[in-house]
Amino acid sequence: MRTAAERRELLKAVYEEARRCTRCPLHQTRTHVVFGAGNADADLMFIGEAPGANEDRMGLPFVGQAGKLLDKLLGEIGLERGEVWICNTLKCRPPDNRDPHPKEIEACQDYLDRQVDLIEPVVICTLGNFSTKLLRRDCTGISRLHGREEVRIIGPRTVRLYPLYHPAAALYTPSMLETLRTDFHRIPELLALGPPEQPHPLEVLPELDEPMPELDEPMPELAAESGRAEAAAQLGLF
Ligand code: URA
Repeated sequence: MRTAAERRELLKAVYEEARRCTRCPLHQTRTHVVFGAGNADADLMFIGEAPGANEDRMGLPFVGQAGKLLDKLLGEIGLERGEVWICNTLKCRPPDNRDPHPKEIEACQDYLDRQVDLIEPVVICTLGNFSTKLLRRDCTGISRLHGREEVRIIGPRTVRLYPLYHPAAALYTPSMLETLRTDFHRIPELLALGPPEQPHPLEVLPELDEPMPELDEPMPELAAESGRAEAAAQLGLF
């Protein structure tokens, strides 16, 4: 079992690696890598789709209108950003806010897997279709799945997966906002259940048809102390 401080340090090292990432062409057009932000020791994790223009400029997830709604909903259940972890399926902005491409999702997935592995959340809320489909490995859409919790193995962990409508979609559709709010208000109940039973190590071996990690990926350079301080500030780590 890792301490909160160990999680923070390990997460910063992954961020240092992601900051230099060139695994897909999105690195050519990004301003910042939007790795994620919040509490490295959080029980609750949110996974959105991809950074937009504001997020790309600031290097932080959910800082626009959708983020304000997310903050409001968090407040309604007595939580703040600093108590949860917020990130996206893609860490770099797709130009013109187009949908993520499958190759980009595949290239970026390792960072998400490592975030789940290090943070060890109890509940993961996927926001919208992209993260829901990725984590469930299934093409069922969010309108059928929102508000239905399930216990799933994600990487090496078993978590309570809880798909929700994306706040950006709910911004413009009052009925969707009400559904999102109703679903959101059940989060404390799911957190109170605590972590589900963890899988036996043999259950989490990669399936044979899963893509293997890149073997020729360069090892991350050892981050200098100044780089680490910058990373901590960027991540808003508590
Ligand atoms: N939408 C997302 O999915 N993620 C963000 O960070 C911002 C908007």
